Amino acid sequence: MPLFDFQCNQCDTVIEVLLSGDQPGPSTCDSCGGEVRRLLSSPAALKRMDGFFHKDNPSDAQLASKGLAKYVNRGDGTYEKASGSGPSIMSRDQLPL
Ligand SMILES: [Zn+2]
Repeated sequence: MPLFDFQCNQCDTVIEVLLSGDQPGPSTCDSCGGEVRRLLSSPAALKRMDGFFHKDNPSDAQLASKGLAKYVNRGDGTYEKASGSGPSIMSRDQLPL
């Protein structure tokens, strides 16, 4: 089950939530009650792919220097290549996790 990051618009608290399928996730902050928004980072499971899918969003040049490609989650279970070499679209099943 993917782990998503939500961030509070008021106090910047980041909440990590496990969500399956089309669950909407939290809408308010536990700390201050402010509105939270879903961060566009990759699911935390992808953090294991250090340098490939990395939460810190390394620059394209950094990725290229390591011979890595960057893929962006399109939100429908597929990933589109943003830089580097490799297939232009990969499905979640094709990710080498
Ligand atoms: Zn808050």
